[in-house]
Amino acid sequence: MSETEIKKRKRVKSMKWEAELIEIIEETPDVRTFRFDKPKDFDFIPGQFVMVFFPDVFGRKNRAYSIASSPTNPDYLDLTIKLYGLFTHHMFSLHEGSIWHLRGPYGKFVLDLDRNNDILLLGAGVGVTPLMSMIRYSTDLKLDRKFLLLYSNKRPKDIIYHEELMQIERANPNVKIIYTLTRLKEHLKVTWPGLTGRIDADMVREAVLEWQKDLGDNRERPTSLACGPIPMLETQEKVLLELGWPKEDILYEKFW
Ligand SMILES: Cc1cc2nc3c(=O)[nH]c(=O)nc-3n(C[C@H](O)[C@H](O)[C@H](O)COP(=O)(O)OP(=O)(O)OC[C@H]3O[C@@H](n4cnc5c(N)ncnc54)[C@H](O)[C@@H]3O)c2cc1C
Repeated sequence: MSETEIKKRKRVKSMKWEAELIEIIEETPDVRTFRFDKPKDFDFIPGQFVMVFFPDVFGRKNRAYSIASSPTNPDYLDLTIKLYGLFTHHMFSLHEGSIWHLRGPYGKFVLDLDRNNDILLLGAGVGVTPLMSMIRYSTDLKLDRKFLLLYSNKRPKDIIYHEELMQIERANPNVKIIYTLTRLKEHLKVTWPGLTGRIDADMVREAVLEWQKDLGDNRERPTSLACGPIPMLETQEKVLLELGWPKEDILYEKFW
């Protein structure tokens, strides 16, 4: 991507439009990706979200959803959504061809396109969606930015994008992923190659120190971006501040 294109992307304007649902992808037992046609004039920065409305059903009520696809994808826009309450039950009842009212993009929880620094990502469950957009973008453009994703889920079958993440890790040496599972059955622990337990202070400290050792000395200061439950966001800040990271390099997105 040229410098001009990157600059243009940084001035993205929000718009509203009626989006046609073109595909539904079952990701895990309770998570689906809803794929929409992407309007020609819609652009966003990896990490941003859109607001979703169903005016005929919920009037002016809306919900926010991070865009999981990369802005480099010219054809479609993906929202990956976990079944939960009012809106998501309605969404999960809809079929291809249905029309969703979208408005966006919004948000400052983004990959900084002015920098070329390395990126630490902490994600839990469906909180991985904005992080996935960043990884897909950087992989598509073959950027020289190293990513470490520390990614927590309940069980192996709950790991959203598992197949694609493994492919990315094989194809892009700049991306490293550490998986942790919080509800792995005892008898599966022998064969599970990743970590177990929630993302806690020791896990973050150890992963970051190891990653930074691998990065070497001559890299620009990294940024950390976390999306998941509040205790994980607090852990991110506490550990990274202790390790001497400046506060402005520690970002988070809160879904709930
Ligand atoms: C910037 C932003 C980006 C978001 N991106 C995504 C995304 O990419 N994918 C996605 O699935 N959701 C995302 N969300 C959450 C989304 O906006 C809704 O809150 C969610 O889908 C639940 O909506 P609902 O109407 O089904 O549930 P509601 O009927 O609103 O649920 C009732 C209550 O449960 C809480 N709640 C909802 N879901 C959970 C949960 N999983 N765990 C714990 N508490 C919860 C809510 O705070 C609410 O008080 C995002 C939120 C924000 C603010």
